[in-house]
Amino acid sequence: MFSLQTGGTPVPPEINRIGVATYSIPAMIRNVILDWSGTLADDLSAVLTATNAIFREFGRKEFTRDEFRQHFRLPFSGFYAEFLPEASSEGLEALYERFFLGLQDDIPLLPGALEFLEHCRATGRRTFLLSTIKASHFDEQAGRLGVKRFFEHCYVEIMDKREKIREILAVHGLDPQETMFVGDMVHDIETARHGGVLDVAVLTGFDPVGKLLVAQPTVVMRDMAALRRML
Ligand SMILES: [Mg+2]
Repeated sequence: MFSLQTGGTPVPPEINRIGVATYSIPAMIRNVILDWSGTLADDLSAVLTATNAIFREFGRKEFTRDEFRQHFRLPFSGFYAEFLPEASSEGLEALYERFFLGLQDDIPLLPGALEFLEHCRATGRRTFLLSTIKASHFDEQAGRLGVKRFFEHCYVEIMDKREKIREILAVHGLDPQETMFVGDMVHDIETARHGGVLDVAVLTGFDPVGKLLVAQPTVVMRDMAALRRML
């Protein structure tokens, strides 16, 4: 079932195809696992710029924003294996570090992200982070933005989130029926399913809506502000 909080913005044509249904996030959701990039942090432009710098370094054509959103995926090893097979993972990491460092100083939170985290705290919901982001990048961004304090535990540098979510549920004693995972990519939807938790997709990030809908997310929200209003 799909839910959309469009807040007066035009509904993309992909949405009209499936219609709009009403859906309440169950009040029994007590645990929230959150992705970082494109879900809480508006870092798409910075990641695209750094990625294009890598492709330039290899003499390759740059991605437009739309091309990047269409092709980028997690785990990102698959993306690089397809589009830059001659690069080693060590080489890519060194280049990404070099190109990304100066770019992350301006990364802001996405609309409603801070209020969502404050709401989770005010309503006693346990909150966790599950992200592929490098630990040092997360420390810099989340520290500067003042949001690290909201997370009971931050799982970073997780290349394949599907392989981690069940461990998180077990270690912290989280009931899947009381837990949701919120993310902006198909990989996040697949991860939630893998853990048996409610999958929630937001439209503020890397995967465009048409790509997300192919994965048939249970809940689709425009942004964290819309999700906050459902909780
Ligand atoms: Mg993301």
